[in-house]
Amino acid sequence: MAQYTPMIQQYLKIKSSHRDAFLFFRLGDFYEMFFEDAVKASQFLEITLTSRDGGTKERIPMCGVPHHSAANYIKQLVEAGNKVAICEQVEDPKVAKGVVKREVIQIITPGTVMDHNLLKETENNFIASVAFGEEEYSIVLNDLSTGELKGYQFRGDASMLMQEVQALHAREVILSSRVYEEIAEPLRLRFQITSSIQDESEVPGPFAHLLGGNESPLLKEACGRLFHYLLHTQKRALEHIQPVSVQHLNEYMKLDSFSKRNLELVETNRAKGKKGSLLWLLDRTVTGMGSRRLKQWIEQPLLMPEQITQRLGVVEELMQEFFVRQELRDQLKKVYDLERLAGKVSFGNITARDLIQLKHTLGSVPGIKQSLSQLKNPYSLEISEKMDLHENLFDYLERSLHDDPPLSIKEGGIIKDGYHEELDTYRDASVNGKAWIASLEQRERNETGIKSLKIGYNRIFGYFIEVTRSNLSQIPEGRYERKQTLANAERYVTPDLKEKERLILEAEEKMVALEYDLFLQIREHVKGYIQSLQELAKQLSGIDVLQAFATVSEEQRYVKPVLSGSNRVEIINGRHPVVEKVMDAQEYVPNDISLNSERSMLLITGPNMAGKSTYMRQLALTAIMMQIGCFVPADQAELPLFDQIFTRIGAADDLVGGQSTFMVEMLETRYALKKATSESLILLDEIGRGTSTYDGMALAQSIVEYIHHHIGAMTLFSTHYHELTVLESELKSLKNVYVSAIEEQGKLVFLHKVIDGQADKSFGIHVAQLAELPTGVIERAKEILLDFESNDNSPKKAVKEAEKAAEEDTQLSLFAEETRSSKKREASAVEQELKSLNLLEMTPLDAINALFKLQKKVK
Ligand code: ADP
Repeated sequence: MAQYTPMIQQYLKIKSSHRDAFLFFRLGDFYEMFFEDAVKASQFLEITLTSRDGGTKERIPMCGVPHHSAANYIKQLVEAGNKVAICEQVEDPKVAKGVVKREVIQIITPGTVMDHNLLKETENNFIASVAFGEEEYSIVLNDLSTGELKGYQFRGDASMLMQEVQALHAREVILSSRVYEEIAEPLRLRFQITSSIQDESEVPGPFAHLLGGNESPLLKEACGRLFHYLLHTQKRALEHIQPVSVQHLNEYMKLDSFSKRNLELVETNRAKGKKGSLLWLLDRTVTGMGSRRLKQWIEQPLLMPEQITQRLGVVEELMQEFFVRQELRDQLKKVYDLERLAGKVSFGNITARDLIQLKHTLGSVPGIKQSLSQLKNPYSLEISEKMDLHENLFDYLERSLHDDPPLSIKEGGIIKDGYHEELDTYRDASVNGKAWIASLEQRERNETGIKSLKIGYNRIFGYFIEVTRSNLSQIPEGRYERKQTLANAERYVTPDLKEKERLILEAEEKMVALEYDLFLQIREHVKGYIQSLQELAKQLSGIDVLQAFATVSEEQRYVKPVLSGSNRVEIINGRHPVVEKVMDAQEYVPNDISLNSERSMLLITGPNMAGKSTYMRQLALTAIMMQIGCFVPADQAELPLFDQIFTRIGAADDLVGGQSTFMVEMLETRYALKKATSESLILLDEIGRGTSTYDGMALAQSIVEYIHHHIGAMTLFSTHYHELTVLESELKSLKNVYVSAIEEQGKLVFLHKVIDGQADKSFGIHVAQLAELPTGVIERAKEILLDFESNDNSPKKAVKEAEKAAEEDTQLSLFAEETRSSKKREASAVEQELKSLNLLEMTPLDAINALFKLQKKVK
């Protein structure tokens, strides 16, 4: 290292403690990168790679970006999951002895961006910190831009953790070095989430109060890790971080990452976009904060009946009071992103323009409060009463800041007249001086008789009197001092002019410095309001979401749901809200759903594309809508509060994640069977489809039985295994329903109507017939089907048929008995084995192996 120049030595020293970041090293007006950083950045950012002499034989690779346009380059790097350490000169180069002192002043990482260019208005930017215990772990989630801090505690292992982190939409995860190896790489590859190491996890003193009385060691550890990481990367006090709100499982419906994905709550499965999701449908918010709040609500439906009732009450009234709603919407449109403004205040990068946005926001609060107070329900009244108008702060900003300040906070033009006496004096001096100079022009013209004489100003020479060459002779001797000669004019000054100029410049210099100081004081003053502004932001964003619910509910003709006291689902003419919304020409066919203790499981059959999945999702989405406080798509709806919703979809591929279809299906099913309670809702869509018919069917049946006997959760189960419909006679609470389709003028018409009973099993051949496959093919298919059915080696069916035969013909009873017992022997062996399988403890691979063995036995 000694052979490098002192500056490169300084660079290497700083880089050694920021190995995982691109080091933006400030050199004059540029941020430079060297060595490997330079090579990588030049490729990624498509900027020229050069080199410089660093004292050694070989030149050092180098590339750089101008300081004023760095934001855009930083954005590109960070969006791709990289970190950027900003290293600034921290002393004045003019007074520095030797190499200018430099320090990293901030590390920008995907989870800690504060720059509005890098943040999406309607989305939170979350960073997660993790602590592991024995079979359980804690996650704390923070949005640095808004200060929100949430804590979660889960049971499970590293693979569950990864799912959760993804489901919580974290951009970055902070881990201890102990688990980093195991987790970082899969997180990056599967979900493009950046990981960072932070081993220090004692909660730092200034943050201790954020934990409230929380004593959970894992939660503390995760918080400590987060705070250290934030201090390390941001290098400043972060007063806007809010006390951790621990997410208690009994307050919110639990939705695992599979279900959020399968139900397309906030993004669609295929396109991965918001369009087509429940969020898309419901997002009639008018503020970015409201949109973010809505997303949080959708992913955390409530389990507390009072809160749900409160929200529903406001939505109901806002639906009826159209004008109040319209007023509220109009007022809210004038509200800026208060949460992020509060974040910027604390972060110390708020500009005068931001503070004006804050002022305008506060300016619309009285109107919002007034509108809310017109509603009669107790909840909105409560919000309106609690709403702090922040009149003092509003007046303060109104008094101190110009309405249209410049972007820069260092060049003056920010503070209003009359706010500060000293500033006013300087302003007067400057204004008077300028007025004096303006009058000077006229005076000199009169006294010298030179009509074209003028006063000018430039940065280098200051104020001057300019006289064109042809008039020079008219200037009285000794009147002016020569300053500058131009091609066809001379420029002059006078002692008076110089004196005035000095006064003006001095006043302006002082003015700018003083304005900057005053601005910093204003900023400091506003800091005192961070917490109450955050509170106000919560109230405003909550109201925005409720008005969005009312707006969409009215438009889509949703009804107010009733919370069932007797644990039953009774939905009349229910609809799938998103499918209904995107259907253009056709009419959505509404369906009823009725579930209760005698009818807690529905086995749904019907041809492909009939509407089985839609029917099942319809129920889940209706439940979620009710539990977030929105009206629901039906004519009438009564539902219980579901503690969890599980959705398992056959053939959902996770190819990117490197897991096979069937494996994913089994993983999801294992999770559902392990976690579901009698108060959960389970949707199983074509489970078992991912493997061969018999083991798929066996598995499907045993899963249905398990839920029926051991869990008792309300369950909708769609299947193309018609054989399973016999379960209706064996399982007390299971009922068959099917989605109907008919033939009309030689065409297959899906009626999308769900009816009690079971579908016609030879539907496939029927469809083929309608598609006009050659008659020979159809006839042969019918034959083969018959053959299959008579040779059916599904044990149950054989037994049933033997029984039937025995009833019909006593002569055959002996044979029947034989068949029964031989088949039973096979069946019971298989059944025994099936029963003995402990599904919860099996890995998907074990399950496949076990199935393979079972199948071999019956083949
Ligand atoms: P399945 O699960 O039976 O294969 P889906 O539920 O995927 O069928 O439905 C297939 C398509 O049928 C949907 O994309 C939708 O366009 C239409 N559909 C489903 N249910 C209805 C309904 N109740 N009314 C109108 N169209 C429907």
